[in-house]
Amino acid sequence: MKEKGILTVVSGFSGSGKGTLMKELLARYPDRYALSISATTRMPRQGEADGREYFFVSRDEFEKMIAKGELIEYAKYVENYYGTPRGYVEKMLDEGRDVILEIEIQGALNVKKLFPDTLLLFVTPPNAGELKKRLVGRGTESMEVIESRMNRACEEAQGMECYDYLIINDRLDECVEKMHDIIRGEHLRSSRNREFIEEIRKDLERLKGEE
Ligand code: 5GP
Repeated sequence: MKEKGILTVVSGFSGSGKGTLMKELLARYPDRYALSISATTRMPRQGEADGREYFFVSRDEFEKMIAKGELIEYAKYVENYYGTPRGYVEKMLDEGRDVILEIEIQGALNVKKLFPDTLLLFVTPPNAGELKKRLVGRGTESMEVIESRMNRACEEAQGMECYDYLIINDRLDECVEKMHDIIRGEHLRSSRNREFIEEIRKDLERLKGEE
């Protein structure tokens, strides 16, 4: 029987380093994981490419995607819309890949409602000062945007308990392996192996009756 992939949502404050973490996880285990690429109405940052970091679309195109039911979930984040395209996620899960959605908390909770088996991981820097330093150091955002992202971080911190695991992003190398171990461990959960349980029960009954 082919094992279905696990849908994993990774959230974290803007500047928590979750993007780098995801890239490294995929580079190390390319056959195991598939990273969903979201659609967004925000403008590309320097170095971002359409179809690689995001599908950059207009507000109009985004609304059409919603109307056609092409998004699993979507949310507004600091004046822009972000959403998860459905087709790729479903295809990869069916092929047995663990699919990762890197999305904010509203979206995470919506996905969990729709697919209760979703694993929720929250990435955080070791402390708040480090977060501010990373946001300022990134140099891609105005002070105003940095402020709204810090405000948003305060709001998101209120929801950290909703996640299954916290991943403190101190050393990239260790963090990648922690995340990989957590997801691998999830595959062993009895509740995710119901078919196996049913099968072994049946076989045990059958063998019990044989000489
Ligand atoms: P950024 O503009 O920094 O790339 O992303 C801003 C926030 O939007 C991040 O917290 C990111 O995880 C989140 N995000 C990215 N794609 C999606 C999506 O498809 N749905 C939701 N709900 N949030 C997303």
